[in-house]
Amino acid sequence: MKVGILGGGQLARMIALAGYPLGLKFIVLDPDPNAGAAGLSEHLHGAYDDPALLAELAEKADVVTYEFENVPAHVAEFLSSHTTVYPPANALAVSQDRLLEKNFFKELGIGTAPYAQVDSLADLKNAMTTMGYPAILKSRRMGYDGKGQVVLMSAGDLAAAWEAMQGAAAIVEGFVPFRREVSIIAARRPSGDIVFYPLSENRHSGGILRVASACADDAEQGMAEDYVRRLLEKLDYVGVIALELFDVGGQLLANEFAPRVHNSGHWTIEGSETSQFENHLRAILDLPLGSTQTRGFAAMVNFIGGLPQTEEILKLDHAHLHLYDKAPRKGRKVAHATIRSEDLEQFEQTREKLTNLAKQTDDS
Ligand code: ATP
Ligand code: MG
Ligand code: MG
Repeated sequence: MKVGILGGGQLARMIALAGYPLGLKFIVLDPDPNAGAAGLSEHLHGAYDDPALLAELAEKADVVTYEFENVPAHVAEFLSSHTTVYPPANALAVSQDRLLEKNFFKELGIGTAPYAQVDSLADLKNAMTTMGYPAILKSRRMGYDGKGQVVLMSAGDLAAAWEAMQGAAAIVEGFVPFRREVSIIAARRPSGDIVFYPLSENRHSGGILRVASACADDAEQGMAEDYVRRLLEKLDYVGVIALELFDVGGQLLANEFAPRVHNSGHWTIEGSETSQFENHLRAILDLPLGSTQTRGFAAMVNFIGGLPQTEEILKLDHAHLHLYDKAPRKGRKVAHATIRSEDLEQFEQTREKLTNLAKQTDDS
């Protein structure tokens, strides 16, 4: 079987690495000739909406998936009419647009921060007459790692914040005074079988994920599973999904979902019986889903912009290094390390050492 992937970055690379033991082959479509997965897979090099390349991808791949959600909707629709595409194109459409996404959460009875549609400075001023400060103005489309977002501290910030949107359609959200951020990753097969991973507790700064840690027996696990199940069933979803949540005094508010494997699930590579990458492949190929049982304590630390000497990471007990084969650039994720151990003290020590190493070379 050959799996096509739209996007050839580190997520595609880790999907391919999980698929080789299952005898799978991969073909990626990516405009960047040096995409991180290209060395591992057959690579179609060109634009995502190049009709000839899409036709070739549909012809060669038994199933097509993607590693990022900003694939143009018409591309997913075109591919869907020529081959099997999972997750379904409607999941992509909802997750691409923060307004549709928030409305969708609301329709499913899942709480969110207060939000309002903003298409003009007048809309923004009007929304802020009822919404308290601080708040965040976010472009509806194309944002990731906190890009396209401006924090609003007072009415004096509104004009410059709207200017920064450069006319892009936006939403404004109330700032959530969360106790912590968590995410839940789940996988669903066409038959409707679902597996859930334990919650991941995620530490961000500057809008970028830094550290993600598996939560054993978390009090909020059941609520998160209930929310993500509603999404999966409503979307008739197939594949891995990630739902990002704010924990506010034991209540969970949805921030956004990603219709793909997710950075907060990288610890599942060594930390779970079956990784998110393998379960994504099993789901889209309609194979039995694997156990999501955690193997001891598990966490992940991102390396952003730069990397310490790899020896510094490799010499740490219980650390596992994953390089993405990407040229360093300011604020860019270039690698991560996972930590997995049965021993809590060792686990915490290694996580702290890795976190400190990452801070030394982080340029964001
Ligand atoms: P990602 O890389 O996760 O796709 P993104 O650019 O889509 O990021 P968000 O996830 O919406 O952006 O925001 C990035 C981070 O900014 C959040 O994880 C959180 O730390 C902070 N943040 C975003 N919205 C809010 C909010 N309403 N209240 C408090 N913090 C927020
Ligand atoms: Mg996002
Ligand atoms: Mg996010």
